[in-house]
Amino acid sequence: MNKKQKRWRNRIILALAIFAVVFALEELGALTAVFGTPGDVYASFVLFLVPYLIAGYDVLIKAARNIRRGQAFDECFLMTVATIGAFAMVFFPDTDPHMAEGAAVMLFYQVGELFQSYAVGQSRKSISAMMDIAPDYANIEQDGQLVEVDPDEVQVGDIIVVKPGERVPIDGVVTEGVSQLDTAALTGESVPRHVEPGADIISGCINMTGILHIRTTKPFGESTVSRILELVENASEKKARTENFITRFARWYTPLVTGAAALLAVVPPLLGMGSWSDWILRGLTFLVVSCPCALVISVPLSFFGGIGGASKLGILVKGSNYLELLAHVDTVVFDKTGTLTDGTFSVVAIHPEADADADALLSAAAHAEAFSDHPIAVSVREAYRGAIDRARIAEVVEESGHGVSALVDGRRVLVGNDKLMAEHGTAWHDCDLTGTVLHVSIDGAYAGHIVIADVVKEDAAQTIRDLHAAGVRRCVMLTGDRADVAEAVGRELGLDEVHAQLLPQDKVEAVERLLAEERGEGRLAFVGDGINDAPVLTRADVGVAMGAMGSDAAIEAADVVLMDDKPSNIARAMRIARKTMRIVWQNIVFALGVKVLILVLAALGLANMWLAVFGDVGVAVIAILNAMRAMRVGADRA
Ligand code: ADP
Ligand code: MG
Repeated sequence: MNKKQKRWRNRIILALAIFAVVFALEELGALTAVFGTPGDVYASFVLFLVPYLIAGYDVLIKAARNIRRGQAFDECFLMTVATIGAFAMVFFPDTDPHMAEGAAVMLFYQVGELFQSYAVGQSRKSISAMMDIAPDYANIEQDGQLVEVDPDEVQVGDIIVVKPGERVPIDGVVTEGVSQLDTAALTGESVPRHVEPGADIISGCINMTGILHIRTTKPFGESTVSRILELVENASEKKARTENFITRFARWYTPLVTGAAALLAVVPPLLGMGSWSDWILRGLTFLVVSCPCALVISVPLSFFGGIGGASKLGILVKGSNYLELLAHVDTVVFDKTGTLTDGTFSVVAIHPEADADADALLSAAAHAEAFSDHPIAVSVREAYRGAIDRARIAEVVEESGHGVSALVDGRRVLVGNDKLMAEHGTAWHDCDLTGTVLHVSIDGAYAGHIVIADVVKEDAAQTIRDLHAAGVRRCVMLTGDRADVAEAVGRELGLDEVHAQLLPQDKVEAVERLLAEERGEGRLAFVGDGINDAPVLTRADVGVAMGAMGSDAAIEAADVVLMDDKPSNIARAMRIARKTMRIVWQNIVFALGVKVLILVLAALGLANMWLAVFGDVGVAVIAILNAMRAMRVGADRA
């Protein structure tokens, strides 16, 4: 509890204590003994006014302020009218006094409000604790001394030092030191990762064992931690349809109920159906129950909890609308390379043309690929081993879905698939090995090909099984790779459909066709690494990107980011989304159900204000406790 909440709590406790004393004095007849009749009624009026004002003066002020601003119909207004009304019943001598109820309604309303504020603060805190991954300093070496500086001041290319136990503040590459990294804050995975010089490091991990020197590759503002925090902070701005519905609902619901209460209080007695006091009391009871706070608070809180819970597992959802869409996904479309497969290709064979040499072929290919981020390019460079002299390379053009073209030592080198060769009018010949074939041509002459193969990710097959078990109708793979490779992967993983040899724009078309085939509420999710597929990510109902390996463009374009590149997290994200939606609907149905029931009872004169206030506050408390379940995803952690 913060200071403000503590003061608030103390105020409520004080008011409750005074209320209890006054209530006891009245019930025991002490007031009548001292003040006589009807003096006792006026005495209890004044005495109950004390706890009432102590507990509720701020509500009265807020209601008055809102009325002046012309936004009268909120819960403060409902509570103010209902409680003032209850006190005013003293002017109807034909009925028992209702001051105790008036004070009690205000007291319990405040108890509920305090609880709400505590619950919201609590979930915000646990999310920010989880998100407490932003280090507030970086160590740099100056004249042999380590000094702490603001991470914002570190330039790209500077060397920072991370001691054991510290968090890596900025993305970079290890230049010195060997250590284990704890990536749990980013991926939910607590298996330590071994790093040594040359390893890429993302910010937010905790350095566990050794001192690391890291050459930064990004400014602090573009590093992984900063980006994650930004995503989480902005998530609450993108509202789900259900959330908007509740807001709109509350907007017309409150005036409607107030109107109904007024009619209930006035019309029957005018028609001679009973006493004024009885009907006015029913109208006031009506106002108390109708307070929509249980919904207005618990629905956004559930979404907030779902997003927070997902981020504990390294799944970043950019808004509650995406959580809602995820719950309805029944078609999942995957990109192949880097998404279902590892993206770290190993070279299976090098087949140079008769007059060439295998090493020269690999060297030419690795140089041409020097500037590409494509997993194929990274793997070719890795296989080459030798140093790449960037000065020998010029005029690099990457043609997405085809390959690359570059001048290496002044000679035009093309590396890519059949399409690339065909486009440049180079004759090529096929290979009978299964795998991704990289044809290489030098100065227009075919130089041979390199066959590379990729392995499917460990959890890929399980992911497809989980998705089918969760009711996903179609799991589709799209790839720019050759049909034989695609089909082999498709069979291995149990995919429903495989489409091969697609250029990036063909992937968009394929997704549009699948979107057109969606039925009813069914939604389509596309999962990709963002290399060549950012347009598809934006086109799908829900775009899911692999965060660690994926490109920055993909993380921008995506609606959901999987930090640890595991496709199985998409199944987990869907489970969290569905659980959140279940909780949201439970709360809506429960809160409205109980309220309607008490409203009907109140109209019939069967509910008094005591029942109404317990109905209102009790429903709010239960709905909030239920909403907080959305944050607990422990059982989903694999
Ligand atoms: P996927 O759909 O499997 O993710 P891409 O659309 O990224 O694959 O690429 C499709 C095909 O284009 C690859 O299988 C490869 O033949 C070729 N290609 C793309 N980029 C490169 C590159 N940098 N070097 C060589 N070939 C490439
Ligand atoms: Mg790809």
